[in-house]
Amino acid sequence: MNPEDYTADRPITVTQPSLPPLAEFLPYLEQIWASRILTNGGPMHQRLESALAEYLGVSHVALFCNGTIALVTALKALGIQGEVVTTPFTFVATAHALQWNGVRPVFVDIDPRTCNMRADLIEGAITGETRAILPVHCYGYPCDVDGIDAIASRHGLPVIYDAAHTFGVTHRGVSLSAAGDIAMLSFHATKVFSTFEGGALVIHDAGLKSRVERLRNFGFADETVVDAVGINGKMSEIQAAFGLLQLSKVRENIERNLRIAAQYSQGLAGVRGVSHLPQPAESVGNGSYYPIRVGPDYPMRRDQLYERLRQAGIRTRRYFYPLVSEMPMYRSLPSADPARLPNAHRVAEEILCLPIYPALSTDVVTRIVEIIQSP
Ligand SMILES: *Cc1c(COP(=O)(O)O)cnc(C)c1O
Repeated sequence: MNPEDYTADRPITVTQPSLPPLAEFLPYLEQIWASRILTNGGPMHQRLESALAEYLGVSHVALFCNGTIALVTALKALGIQGEVVTTPFTFVATAHALQWNGVRPVFVDIDPRTCNMRADLIEGAITGETRAILPVHCYGYPCDVDGIDAIASRHGLPVIYDAAHTFGVTHRGVSLSAAGDIAMLSFHATKVFSTFEGGALVIHDAGLKSRVERLRNFGFADETVVDAVGINGKMSEIQAAFGLLQLSKVRENIERNLRIAAQYSQGLAGVRGVSHLPQPAESVGNGSYYPIRVGPDYPMRRDQLYERLRQAGIRTRRYFYPLVSEMPMYRSLPSADPARLPNAHRVAEEILCLPIYPALSTDVVTRIVEIIQSP
């Protein structure tokens, strides 16, 4: 794509879903038409659950209609009430999933190197009401899983990860999605592995998986018995079929993303005031995000650079600004006080996520780098 091909009206977006050739999807549709099974845990659903468990190297995967309902259901399945320690530097669904369960989020500050919640602050946030820890692997960068694990076992608390960004990420050679008692994955259209809308829970215990499955299906224990206030969180056959096809492409897509990330890193290496947040050394990422910080040494502020790129037809995103703790329904919580969250506030003012997706051309990346070099 040439620089003339995108404009403020037809911009390069921060991400773009990768779609396989339509012809490759048609045989899956023919199978669904032949079976007339459209949902309720049909053959495509079963195949995708086992294919994902194998790909991720985990014992159980429970598919959902989206990641948010998956997280709401995970909290419900574990019977979480009271308070949960979490991060303000995330997509709003993390805190909303707590609120939908009547649970109060307690925010702790982040480590500015990873944008993940600081494990050393968790203990100070634990009270008699605390029932769980809900960290987020922001951009697919691993949380301090060992530190969090140690605190959780000391206090007898479950750890539920919002692992929406972690698809295909490994940490010390194993899937990052495997960390915690339960991890939520999102297969939204903007994620590296997508089923249009969709999500999943990674679960390690068969009993917990069947509890989750009942809650996902209105609370039905069998044909006539309803033993819990469940919800409808099911993934349809058409989504599951698309997931099976996408799964065959995801390694290639991740490799392509990682090559683009390397091009950005090389191009931006010498730019004063701009720093990239690198994937931590012990892990291999999925290249879904390319976050930079626009610091005080850069000739313009983050929002000015955002505007400058926007005028050139480049849509970046300020993930995650504003902080969840600044949103009207959370702002008045004592833990949302900006004085307690200095790192999160500083990073939220400086962060900028650059476009990255498998089909992004090297020419466009070169152009973005040039604009950042000389705004
Ligand atoms: C995408 C995302 C979600 C929500 O997932 P949906 O599948 O869109 O419901 C939750 N948390 C984080 C961090 C996300 O990026």
